Amino acid sequence: MTRPVSYACDPAQGYCECGRCALPPARNIDLDAVANLNRATTATAMCLVLIALLLGIFAAGLWRTEQVHKAIVAERNV
Ligand SMILES: [Zn+2]
Repeated sequence: MTRPVSYACDPAQGYCECGRCALPPARNIDLDAVANLNRATTATAMCLVLIALLLGIFAAGLWRTEQVHKAIVAERNV
């Protein structure tokens, strides 16, 4: 045995554990694309969270206005 450790290298898939395989440069482009996708996904998620937050504040404000309105009407009717 010349290799004490067997690596599951797959240069065709751009995967290497030993660090000595000649990997195709496409892997870096793939990683950049994944990073860009993650950034876009994070931005979209943040946008949705902000919209949900605004809607929640808006709904809370409407609910409070409704409660105050009901209280005023009840006070006038008594
Ligand atoms: Zn390798």
